[in-house]
Amino acid sequence: MVAASVWYVTCFYRFIHIEADKLSTLQAEMHEFMTKNGVLGLVLFAEEGINGTVAGDQPAIEKFKQYVWSLMNATDITFKDSTSEKPPFHRVRVQLRAEIVGLKRRDLVPETTQDHHLTPKQWHDAMASSEPKLVIDTRNKYETMVGKFKGAIDPEIQNFSQWGEYLEKTEIPEGVPVYIYCTGGIRCEKAILEMRTRGHENVYQLRDGILGYLAEYPEGYYEGECFVFDERVAVDHNLKPSTRFGICPGCGLTAETKNVCDRCDAEYFVCATCDPTWGPVCSKACRDLWQRHGPKKA
Ligand SMILES: [Zn+2]
Ligand SMILES: [Zn+2]
Repeated sequence: MVAASVWYVTCFYRFIHIEADKLSTLQAEMHEFMTKNGVLGLVLFAEEGINGTVAGDQPAIEKFKQYVWSLMNATDITFKDSTSEKPPFHRVRVQLRAEIVGLKRRDLVPETTQDHHLTPKQWHDAMASSEPKLVIDTRNKYETMVGKFKGAIDPEIQNFSQWGEYLEKTEIPEGVPVYIYCTGGIRCEKAILEMRTRGHENVYQLRDGILGYLAEYPEGYYEGECFVFDERVAVDHNLKPSTRFGICPGCGLTAETKNVCDRCDAEYFVCATCDPTWGPVCSKACRDLWQRHGPKKA
């Protein structure tokens, strides 16, 4: 049974070729390991590699890391850690996908060389320097609205598969170094390949993403909070769960306005778009009740 008082959360990925006929065995083994050891969360396998975010108590997460290293036969897979007082996941999901990160470009498979990876320290120094540069956020609008690096360009994409489209219509001056980043580093691995196919060679990515940077530089050049894909919604500079943002029950996107539900008294967040029409309720279930019976009688 899973009953951690502090949840240890970790995310990781590795591009590594997996034979197609091995995928379902890996899926079954991973599912069994997680279930047995009280590890919750989402792990994806594809022919191009593995990607996941999981949570559990500390010993379980330590054991999980060892397991991933031996399962993938790669002890240099790095893990980005944070904690949460509430469970960030409620179940075990292990899925097979066409890609471990959805650029819809299966032809772009990152090489193992990582010359273009900057450590948090190298990235921090680059941000501090006055050299001409472009810093581009490769994440989606609902993520960048929660926070981004100081001075970074927000391409305002709704989905990572629009990255190519964005590059198509954007002029990137030649000779100027481009610095790209995302949550944990995985999207940049593909974003950089897409840039290279368009002739941009002078591109660097933040290794281990914002989560890796905040672990070393909580008071650095990152402004706001960092959106994460679990129930915490976002983490702050100290990698603690957000108290500023939630998920809007109307549209499922990031929301900043806090309300109390008229039917069940739960606190909830609603986004500016849904606020005028959604009603003072925390969920679809409460909305049904509210529409049929009106506000809860005191
Ligand atoms: Zn909404
Ligand atoms: Zn409610």
